[in-house]
Amino acid sequence: MTGRTANRRYRAERAAVLAVSDVCWLCGERGADTVDHVVPYSHGGTDNRANLRPAHRSCNSARGNRAPTRFADLGDFGDW
Ligand SMILES: [Zn+2]
Repeated sequence: MTGRTANRRYRAERAAVLAVSDVCWLCGERGADTVDHVVPYSHGGTDNRANLRPAHRSCNSARGNRAPTRFADLGDFGDW
């Protein structure tokens, strides 16, 4: 396994996020099977759950590393 997404902390945080909600923060539909980084790694984001939101793999890959401005108003996940 390669890259930071393979680490144990990321997997634990991803599971915690998906346990709270499986609503994709990018398209608003249920069934999210992974998480998206609000601030991408390439912009200094971390694996903390405060930086993670549920997402479909397809939505996640479609977004890529673009800045999250388009999605800034989507989702209310409280005080994570
Ligand atoms: Zn989606």
